[in-house]
Amino acid sequence: MVRNIDPRQEAVREEVKAFAEKHMYPMSEELDRMPEPRKFPRELYKKIGEAGFIGYAMPKELGGQGKSKLEYITLIEELCYHDAAIGLLCAVAELATFPIVHFASEEQKQKWVPKCASGEIIPAFVLTEPEAGSDAANQKTVAKENGSEYVVNGEKIFIMHGDVAELAVLFCKIEDKPKLSAMIVETDQPGWEARTLKNKMGMRAATTGGIILKDVKTPTSNLLGEVGKGFRYAMQTLDSARIGVAAQGVGIAQRALDESVSYAKRRQAFGQPIAKLQAIQWMIADMAVRIEAARCMTYKAVQLQDAGEKFTLEASMAKLYASEVANFCVDKAMQIHGGYGFIGEFSPIEKLYRDQRVLEIYEGTSEVQRLVIAGNVIGR
Ligand SMILES: Cc1cc2nc3c(=O)[nH]c(=O)nc-3n(C[C@H](O)[C@H](O)[C@H](O)COP(=O)(O)OP(=O)(O)OC[C@H]3O[C@@H](n4cnc5c(N)ncnc54)[C@H](O)[C@@H]3O)c2cc1C
Repeated sequence: MVRNIDPRQEAVREEVKAFAEKHMYPMSEELDRMPEPRKFPRELYKKIGEAGFIGYAMPKELGGQGKSKLEYITLIEELCYHDAAIGLLCAVAELATFPIVHFASEEQKQKWVPKCASGEIIPAFVLTEPEAGSDAANQKTVAKENGSEYVVNGEKIFIMHGDVAELAVLFCKIEDKPKLSAMIVETDQPGWEARTLKNKMGMRAATTGGIILKDVKTPTSNLLGEVGKGFRYAMQTLDSARIGVAAQGVGIAQRALDESVSYAKRRQAFGQPIAKLQAIQWMIADMAVRIEAARCMTYKAVQLQDAGEKFTLEASMAKLYASEVANFCVDKAMQIHGGYGFIGEFSPIEKLYRDQRVLEIYEGTSEVQRLVIAGNVIGR
């Protein structure tokens, strides 16, 4: 039983539940088990857009729903409770559109945000390179200015929806400038070569791409904000997105707990339901306490964001803790389910196990979160 901290959250949960029953559960297994090469679920993405979920936190005047970040975070938590990979489709759109909403010119916003919010076009947040992951500033991708165009060369990897995106928020260096810049690239340009990465462990409904850029052109008017401020834009975007990852963790962990409680009451061993065994009760209690703590941290971070306060530290703490809680809870859920947890045809635990693992890796690994937290606590 989830207790809300704000009455608006109940409406979000109801909305998502109705959507999940109609559109998510019927697709969930098919999208997870799809053979390679995997296909991005465009139809479902369109439905998520039509439901208003993609633009949930985007401003109304740009075609979004104009909801608070708390409502958005509740949306992600609840979507991920039902199917984390489908919830991720929505979270990626918010991640990729955030820099346009916050750092673009009015003209750029009007041109692209409404189309992203509705799900008409798919955006991607294109930062990571084969040799620049945690060390994100160490980019090799370079844009050269040629009259009214940038000509971009480089390589990107692990980009959510990067295989299918029509629009890229691309981070790279401009010529010999040492600091990163950000620019918008329309991916139908010659030289943009994207592929779908194969054999992903979890979160399979949302595809991940590798991209090679060979003399890709984009108008200099597509520069986002100011030259040399790209790293700052990326980090501010990730601050916000990390609360979203925390919400993914809370949703997955809550699902693992609910499945475990229900199973422990049904499963008989030694003449009684296993829920009567103290060993099982302790695992359930440990899960419940951790989820409560992770949820409180996630909501606190997003309340700070809604209030316009600084929230980098709290977002990092929530992301670190909630992703580790998801890992802990899914592992305990598997133990409680025994063989029926390990074999995917009997329960969702095997899928939860695969889906949660990436939360400790993307949008800053757990080690990077600890660096951010220590940097804020100790001072640099
Ligand atoms: C499914 C998936 C989706 C993703 N989506 C996107 C996306 O949409 N856009 C995008 O730009 N990127 C995306 N990423 C990339 C992701 O953010 C990176 O994978 C992540 O930042 C880690 O980088 P790396 O994989 O290069 O690992 P590395 O940075 O090479 O790290 C390897 C190990 O070293 C540790 N390490 C590195 N530096 C330090 C340090 N200073 N101190 C302590 N430990 C350290 C790491 O924590 C890790 O354990 C995605 C990744 C995955 C797997």
